Amino acid sequence: MSQAADLKAVFNGDLVLPGDSDYTESIARWAKNAERKARYVTFPKDTEAVSAIVRWAVANKVPLAVKGGGHSASGASSSEDGLVIDLSRYLNQVTVSEDKQVLYVGGGALWKDVDQTGADNGVATPGGTVNHTGVGGLILGGGYGFLSGEHGLVVDNLVETTVVLADGRIVTASETSEPELFWALRGGGGNFGVVTQFVLKCYPQRPTVYAGLLIYSGDKLKEVVEVARRWHKTASPKEGALLIATRGPGRQPVVIFNAFYNGTEAEGREKYKEFIAVGPIADHTGEVPITVINTFQNPVAVHGRYTYMTGTAQEEAKSEIAVAAFQKVIETSEDGTFDSAFGLEFFPHGKISSVPLDATAFPARKSQVGVLVMARWDADGTEYADTAKKITMVRDAYAIKGIFVEGEGSHANPADTERGYSNYASDETLPTSTTKKLFQGNYPRLQKIKHQYDPSNVFNRWWGIEPVAA
Ligand SMILES: Cc1cc2nc3c(=O)[nH]c(=O)nc-3n(C[C@H](O)[C@H](O)[C@H](O)COP(=O)(O)OP(=O)(O)OC[C@H]3O[C@@H](n4cnc5c(N)ncnc54)[C@H](O)[C@@H]3O)c2cc1C
Repeated sequence: MSQAADLKAVFNGDLVLPGDSDYTESIARWAKNAERKARYVTFPKDTEAVSAIVRWAVANKVPLAVKGGGHSASGASSSEDGLVIDLSRYLNQVTVSEDKQVLYVGGGALWKDVDQTGADNGVATPGGTVNHTGVGGLILGGGYGFLSGEHGLVVDNLVETTVVLADGRIVTASETSEPELFWALRGGGGNFGVVTQFVLKCYPQRPTVYAGLLIYSGDKLKEVVEVARRWHKTASPKEGALLIATRGPGRQPVVIFNAFYNGTEAEGREKYKEFIAVGPIADHTGEVPITVINTFQNPVAVHGRYTYMTGTAQEEAKSEIAVAAFQKVIETSEDGTFDSAFGLEFFPHGKISSVPLDATAFPARKSQVGVLVMARWDADGTEYADTAKKITMVRDAYAIKGIFVEGEGSHANPADTERGYSNYASDETLPTSTTKKLFQGNYPRLQKIKHQYDPSNVFNRWWGIEPVAA
């Protein structure tokens, strides 16, 4: 029996091999540079099938990767010549409990499924701001979005998980069952097993909210950031916003302010009146269904382009740094080589920072404003099609002291600061020194848990954690 036939025989689900008509589609990722040529792509139908695949891969010494929504630009959910466990085809169901207190979310679901099921039942839970992102990676790395001001991080709303461990055992992890594993899963990433189901707390949610885009000419950036800095200090938990500085139609520099208020349009306009007073060139805000809030960025966050992104956080927005970063956006996108963007994320932070740093593995609770840069491009057959070279160009461009670099670093690496957001890291692997910095005081505990649940480092992609005996 061939190795492929042997694998196929052990699990319930689909196996796609190089040369199959759906192979290219099966290894596709949101970021083109995250694609790898896997030897086996598996689509398990249930948790037992995931367990069988993990056992088979370990027994046959075939490296494995787990794919949720496939949005990490790092390639962490892909495997060159290895095996991929892709949860997105079958383990993607979302249902609500009878009492509407929790959502049962498949490990391969997308946020749009969560948003829709919630809305159909009059409830919601915090999730990602781009609704085609996967739940898996986003939850395991912490996760935040427009509802985080009110309800906290996604991991703060996680009540239970079903996990396939490195030895194939299926366990439930919660505060009362495998509590150490549960602690690690809330921020420690895909280092501990394959999560086939997340159980998320949900909350009564009105069907419509105030949300949408205020679009300004690029020269208004300083003013808008100043307003945002003041507003953010007193914003209520029901508010939250994203600011993106980029080139818009006709490649003109624009500032896009994505506003959100969990209430009526009249209340929302009052909350954001200072932003409206700055004078946007277009006001596309209004009262919209709750399911729409995580769609405003979708038109630019399209699948299949090469991408480098990186993210960190600051205590407060600094307009001079925003202006310097915007200058880089303009420069790096001058000749059309890149589409580039600088972003600030303003989610009222009281709820997030009320959770002690050691209550979950997620380490970055102190800083208030998320900061990110993103550059995207297409393979064009020119010298710039060289991915590594392009990534270096972008990293060098954004090595701006005060945001992505502390001290005399030369590259923009989010985890080189203690405020980095691991989920935005585009590097395929991060050195241990960087992972240590990222997880700060939580790193030694993660190492012990890693040793207990995955001593031979089967789940070893992305920001790895070195197992250490207790
Ligand atoms: C357009 C865009 C918008 C974003 N917006 C936000 C945002 O609003 N808020 C936010 O917090 N983050 C955001 N992110 C970052 C996002 O959290 C990460 O990219 C995350 O990794 C995406 O999860 P995924 O399942 O789609 O990724 P994948 O590439 O599938 O997986 C990423 C990592 O998680 C692991 N993994 C995935 N699912 C599972 C599982 N079920 N069990 C075990 N391991 C698993 C993979 O093995 C891999 O290591 C955004 C990213 C993009 C590209």
